[in-house]
Parts: sequence; structure tokens; C-alpha cells
Amino acid sequence: MPIRVLPEAVALRIAAGEVITRPTDAVKELVENAVDAVLASRPQALTPHSGGRLLAPSPAERAPGARQWKRGAEGGLSALPARIDVEIRDGGLALIRVVDTGCGIPANEVALAFQRHATSKLATAEDLFAVRTLGFRGEALASIAAISQVALYTRAAGAELGALLELDAGRVVEQGPRAGPVGTSITVRNLFQNVPARLRFLRSAAGEAGQVVHLVGQYALSFPEIRFSLLNDGRLVFQSPGGGRLEDVLAKVYGAALVEKLLPVEGEAGRLKVVGYVAEPGTHRSTRSGISIFVNRRWVQSRALTYAVEEAYQPALPAGRHPVAALWLELPPSEVDVNVHPTKAEVRFADERGIYAAVRRTIRGVVLRAAPVPGVGAPLAPAVPSPPGPAVESSPAAQVPRQASFAGAAGASGAPAEPGAPAAREPGLPILHPLGQVHRTYVVAEGPDGVYFVDQHTAHERVRYEEIQAQRAGAGVASQVLLDPLVVDLTPRQWGLLGEGAPSLRALGFAFEPLGERSVLLRAVPAMLRLSDLARAFTDVVDALATEGPAAGVDAPSAVLACHSAVRAGDALSPEEIRELLGRLEGLDVWRYCPHGRPIVIRLDAAQLARDFRRV
Ligand code: ADP
Ligand code: MG
Repeated sequence: MPIRVLPEAVALRIAAGEVITRPTDAVKELVENAVDAVLASRPQALTPHSGGRLLAPSPAERAPGARQWKRGAEGGLSALPARIDVEIRDGGLALIRVVDTGCGIPANEVALAFQRHATSKLATAEDLFAVRTLGFRGEALASIAAISQVALYTRAAGAELGALLELDAGRVVEQGPRAGPVGTSITVRNLFQNVPARLRFLRSAAGEAGQVVHLVGQYALSFPEIRFSLLNDGRLVFQSPGGGRLEDVLAKVYGAALVEKLLPVEGEAGRLKVVGYVAEPGTHRSTRSGISIFVNRRWVQSRALTYAVEEAYQPALPAGRHPVAALWLELPPSEVDVNVHPTKAEVRFADERGIYAAVRRTIRGVVLRAAPVPGVGAPLAPAVPSPPGPAVESSPAAQVPRQASFAGAAGASGAPAEPGAPAAREPGLPILHPLGQVHRTYVVAEGPDGVYFVDQHTAHERVRYEEIQAQRAGAGVASQVLLDPLVVDLTPRQWGLLGEGAPSLRALGFAFEPLGERSVLLRAVPAMLRLSDLARAFTDVVDALATEGPAAGVDAPSAVLACHSAVRAGDALSPEEIRELLGRLEGLDVWRYCPHGRPIVIRLDAAQLARDFRRV
């Protein structure tokens, strides 16, 4: 086949395939046109907003010619309510209608609007680097019209009469003056009517409608001064109040319950400004749909920025869960390339890394402060002080202070003022998510504010000790009769302690009778006792009858019994056992130290980790 230039209609349909791949894309283009039109008619238009407040335009933006797109009688229009009403039927395939109260199109330009590369928002190539409008390519109307039936009614501000234009597959079928309000109404019917292949690949109408609901919510978030509504198959499914308060729109989009969990964020880095809201780390979703990013009020999809947001939450979020965040980035238009994606969904930054870092830093500060840290404070908790001096990641020497700091931390926390004391009620251990066991000695778990190492023996010892105290206060420690009574030989000292100590030993679940000179016949032992070395357990408890408790208020025999009843270092624990152990520990008032005063929990602080890894 010889080379030839494609007929305009074919070229248009090819172009439309890029811009409009599904009904949601058409809705997006039409809503963007409506937003541009509404903002163009209002003097405060196109200024950044911060925490729901519209900022006054900067001097640069007030300068003549700074705003790209002005038309119509600005002053006269600003009295009109700023409204955009969207309607879809059958997921947008049967009908899409977008009605705005914007500046309208002058009657003599109506047909031009549907020509390819016809735009009123750009004049020169340089303008591409100062885009302040959502649209700028002049492709959308032409593309949509090529693959559907379009009816446009519009009246420009200041015009006596409006104009009507109807097209079918891009060909004008009806045109003329019409009376009506200032603004624009565009109705698209039978989208993809002449693109059967596209129709076949579309998802369900319900799925598409869901996308449109999401989309309209996003535009409502970025333009709280505009009142949006959405009708889906005749039902009102979304409405924002307008009026400019971001908080009001947040409640509509996320629901009032979630809004209570949102924390305001604000940050600055060079010419970049970041404002927005992020949910506290306890609130998360199974998808990334709760992350919204706007650049100069343009809703964008950015993998890298989304990743920066997610990273800012680590490790406060459970694996596989995603945060909720709405962020507005403001930066000079010259530093963002908005012309890199067919549907303008993606943008490119001049200083990508700087922007990602700023976003991460801004969110991280707020999120980490918000992470709940009940009861994990000094002296035990801040387990890992920063390595002294600047550590260089790659040098082997950097390993040394790190290890030393770990050891130092354990030592420092091992000498609390009153280790074993049943201290005054302290806040409980936070709920931990077990990750596993290391060295058959420590349970590793993720908590709200870091990684927790739990000494399985001291933890279990504390659990047992509290159990023993509770049982003694009631019917006595549960006892287990031995099928084969055990002969235990005692030292003279132990033998001497038996007389006075017998009631205590019985209360602890031991049953025995003297046998000969210095021996006893052990008939029953505490039910919780490990069955491995019963004789040793008994004699150790007897020894403890004469010793002071390891700390004020600690009962020595109970502590020894607890020790002998607890799992040991070296015991492999099943996931069930780990969960059970952590669950029991979480239920205790006293959980930092075992009865002997050894630490139970050491925490690797999340913020410290981030600093050590130079993430912040
Ligand atoms: P772009 O938005 O990139 O300029 P479009 O094809 O979407 O291109 O629209 C072409 C032109 O039609 C716009 O530049 C604008 O002048 C006009 N237009 C489209 N929709 C509206 C509207 N809702 N209100 C006012 N003018 C509009
Ligand atoms: Mg447009």
C-alpha cells in the first residue's frame, strides 16, 4: 500500500482511542472543561488552597497575563453559584451529561471547539510550561464527538442568546441559537457506538459507575469552592456542598467517621508546598484508592508519589494495607510537565527526587507523632540509641557502633530502679503482631511504633507468676497427682525448712510426705510445672522459702515456681504458642520485667530505625 495521509475521520478515531479508552475518561475530560470554565469566570480562580482555605493569589498570579485562561465578563459571573452537575446512565455508555455554570463558549466558536487541536487555553508552545488550566491540548471534545452523539448547549457570559450544536460521529446534524442560562451543558450519548472493539473490552456498567463516583469525588476534593453532584441511573450518588471548605468535601468523599482520623499535614521544600490530610496509621485500606495526589490542583496518578506516601507510614502499617491520604502539591508550573500522558493523568517533575523526599518527610513527621505508644517509654523502651558519630552506611566500621548500641541498650534497661516489684499499674503492652521466633529465645513482633523483641522465658515467667498469685488468692495453685510418686533427697538446710514451709509449699500445689532421714516422697506437683525435672523444681522452691524475694513485694517461692513452669530459651514455639504468650502478656498490668527483674521487652524504635537507615 502506498503511504498516504489518513482521512481526518480515521485520524480522529485513532486519536480518540488514546484519549478516551473508557467512559470514565470522557467524564474526566468533560468535568475538566467544566472546572476550567467555572474557575475562569471567578476572580479567585486557580489559586492554591491550603487546609480548606483559599489562599489569596500571589503577586505573580495577580500580575496581568499571569492567568492563562480568561474570558467572558469576569466580575459579572462571580455572583453565580459555582456548580458542576454530572449525570451518567449505564456506566456512561448510554449517556454522560455535564452541566456547568462556567463562562460558556461564544456562539461563533462553538463549532471550532470540536475541531482537533482547537483550544482557547494555550496560544504558544511556551504556554505549555505555564499551564494553569486542566485542559490545554484541544483534543477532548473532538475525540469524544468522533465516537458518539453529542449535544452541546452553551451561552457565554454577556451574550444575549446561547447556541446549540449537535453532532453524530463528528458530523454536525443540528446547529443554531437557543435561549438558556449562562454556562455549558454537554450530553454524550452512545459512546463507542462506532468502536465495537472498544465496547467489548469494557468492564461492567457498575464497575465503570464506581470509577466515575471516585473521579467526581476527587475533583470535588481539589475544587471545594465548586459544588459537584453526580446522578447515576437517575439516583443522586454524590454531592459536595461547594463553598470552599475542604473539610466538608472530605467528609462527603471519605465519610464522617474517617475524617475524624485525619491529621493535617503541611510542609515546604524550596518552591514546593505540600498541604493536605493523612489518616492516622491505625486507619488503613486494602487498596491504594484512599491515596489522592493533586499537583497544582490537578488530580494525578503518580506511582512514585504514592510510594512516597506509603513509605512514610512504614513500619506503622500492617503488611499489605494502604494508608489514606489527600495531598496537594503546589509548585511553579514551570517545574511540572503536565504534557506527558494521553489523559493527563501523570505528570513529570523537574526535581523528582526532591519532591518525593519532601512528601515523605512531611507525612512521616505527622504520622510518627500520631502512632500510639502506650506505656512504652523510659526506661525500657527506647532500646536502641543512635550510634555515636556519623555512621557511613557502606563502611564495615559502621556495623560496630550499631551492634554496640544494641548491647548497650539491653544493659541500660536491665537495671531498673525496682525491677521485680509489682509496680503501680502501668499502661499495658501494645497489641503486637507476631512475626516469629529468633534463636529459639526471642519472639519478634511488630508493634505500632517499632519492632519488639520479647524474651520468651522472662515473658512466660511473668505470666506464670501472675497466674500463681491469682490462684493462691483463690482456691490455691492447681495441683497434679504424680502416677509414680518421686523420692527427693534434700540437704540438711532444705530439710530444716520443711517444717515451717510446709503450708506454703502446699499452697503452691506440692503434696509430699517425709521419707526416712532427709528425703520426701513427692506425690503431687503444681499442674503448670514442666515435667522434666520435678525434683530440682521442688528443691529450688524449698530453697526459696528462706530467701528474700528478688525485689520488694515479690514472693520468692512463687518466682522460682514461675521460672520452672515457664518455657526456656531454646524451646521452639509454635505460632499458636507465640500468639498465646503475647496475648497473655498483653493482658497484664505488669509486663516490663520478670519477677527476677530481667527485662521482658525490648523495642527497636521505628523512628530510630528510620534515622539509622537515613530515611529521615
Ligand atoms: P482543551 O480543554 O484542551 O482546551 P477541549 O477539546 O476539551 O480542549 O475543549 C476545546 C475548547 O472548548 C476549550 O479550550 C474551551 O475553550 C471550550 N470548552 C470546552 N468545554 C467548555 C465548557 N464546559 N465551558 C466553556 N468552554 C468550553
Ligand atoms: Mg478539555
